[in-house]
Amino acid sequence: MIYFDNNATTQVAPGVFEAMKTFLTHAYGNPSSAHDLGHSVRKAVSEARQSVANLLGASGPDEIVFTSCGTESDNWAILGALEANPGKKHIVTTRVEHEAVRKLCEKLQKNGYEVTWLDVDSDGSLELEQFQKSLRSDTVLVSVMLANNETGILFPVEEIAEIVKSNSDALFHVDGVNAAGKIPIDLKNTAIDLFSISAHKFHGPKGIGALYIRDGLNLPPHSIGGGQERGRRAGTEAVHQIAGIGKAAELAMKHLPLSEVRRLRDKFEDEILNTIPNTKLNGTSDRSKRLPNTSNISFTGMNGEVILAMLDQAGICVSTGSACNAEVQKMSPVLETMNIPFTDAMGAIRFSLGRYNTEEEVDFVLSKLKQIVTDLRKMQP
Ligand code: PLP
Repeated sequence: MIYFDNNATTQVAPGVFEAMKTFLTHAYGNPSSAHDLGHSVRKAVSEARQSVANLLGASGPDEIVFTSCGTESDNWAILGALEANPGKKHIVTTRVEHEAVRKLCEKLQKNGYEVTWLDVDSDGSLELEQFQKSLRSDTVLVSVMLANNETGILFPVEEIAEIVKSNSDALFHVDGVNAAGKIPIDLKNTAIDLFSISAHKFHGPKGIGALYIRDGLNLPPHSIGGGQERGRRAGTEAVHQIAGIGKAAELAMKHLPLSEVRRLRDKFEDEILNTIPNTKLNGTSDRSKRLPNTSNISFTGMNGEVILAMLDQAGICVSTGSACNAEVQKMSPVLETMNIPFTDAMGAIRFSLGRYNTEEEVDFVLSKLKQIVTDLRKMQP
């Protein structure tokens, strides 16, 4: 099997599995317990928190709270920001957010919040002047992603943070789920208040994420109960998962800035665009404004689902959009917002590479893809 679907999820790194195993076998203590077993487990939780803080360039480990996934982090950040400022009813976000943000904002809109939905242009960029104009005295929250899961396009969140802070009192949340572990992040030198991540996107286990909460920000707790996570998210810590995200963060740091992944992605993307007729890149051709691992390419006039199925038969995993849309045969809202024509959007494939991919795999996928596209086009009327 060749796996080019690393924006959907990633293989658990062997070192991560080893780090987790200890806490599923002999080190099963509760980190709140006063005995030695509890102490040793508590120490592991602290170390993992420090690793995640390092990955995000946080000022310290206390800014990191563990959650169950990226969706939970996104939901908590948004709902917490609203709860902290009950008098204000205006939210600013974009039309290309992941469903974890988009669907929650749609629900909030039905429940009395006013939401400004920012568009992107055809290469996926946000218009910053339009963004600045959208800020108001009653804006409670701005939520914008760092890396788009479908196209890999990066929003300039540091610049956006400055605009938010100099033009409003709003809190600024960044969905960093598809960015963490793929590009360097240094939150302490930004005005970002809240930042969501998820371990399974950077070779950690599923079922564990984290929310960065800037020091001094009093976000209402996610859950009330035993007081774990300094009273912010109660519930006995999932120690094996926490050890997993900690190790995954430590290993991800060592692999940044993913130069080899970038080299392979660039070669792969160039070869498709230069040698397969009627192909188009979705998103800016300025690679400094995209993740180093992602190419979203349209095979004009073709059905992406059929290409995906044929690649799958050849043992190659890709995606036609966000994995959450896999069952639904409709145009992705991200490509729709970018004004990608329907015949291009339906033939769009997302290739997302990872650190375990090799040059041989890139060559193999290229040759299979050329063959599949040629064969399918011959069958077209
Ligand atoms: N945000 C983005 C940008 C994502 O890509 C994803 C997952 O695809 C999520 C949020 C949700 O993360 P999780 O699957 O950990 O809930």
